[in-house]
Amino acid sequence: MAVGKKIVDKCVNCSGNFRKSSKTHFGEKEPYKGNMICYKTSENKHYKSIGGPYDPVTYGDYTHSTYSYVLWDGETYRTTAGSMYFCSGKCEKEFGSDCARANVRRIGGTLVRFNKGDRRAS
Ligand SMILES: [Zn+2]
Repeated sequence: MAVGKKIVDKCVNCSGNFRKSSKTHFGEKEPYKGNMICYKTSENKHYKSIGGPYDPVTYGDYTHSTYSYVLWDGETYRTTAGSMYFCSGKCEKEFGSDCARANVRRIGGTLVRFNKGDRRAS
C-alpha cells in the first residue's frame, strides 16, 4: 500500500487513474472552511426527541446540525500496489508477469529484455 504524490500521471499498466487519498469526516459541528478540497458535503439536522421510549420517531424542535464531508489535499493519491507506478496491486502483478513473459530479466540491478531463444531468457 503506497500513499503519496503521483510519479506518473496514469498507471503504467492499465493507463487508469490513481485513487485520491481522502479522508471522510462525520458529525462535524460546522461545514468545512479550510483550504483543502472538500466534497460530498451533507447536513444532518438534529431535532429534540419528544416521543417516549415506545414512540421514538416523533420529533420536536430543531436543535442543531452536524455536517459530513470528504477532504482531499489535491495531490495525495493511494494505491494497493507497492509503488506509485501502478493503480492497484493487481496491475503491479500483471505488469511483472507480462514483463517476465516478454523475456525481461533482471541482471544485477538492471532490467534487460532478451530475444526469444537466448538461453539467458529461459
Ligand atoms: Zn492500473
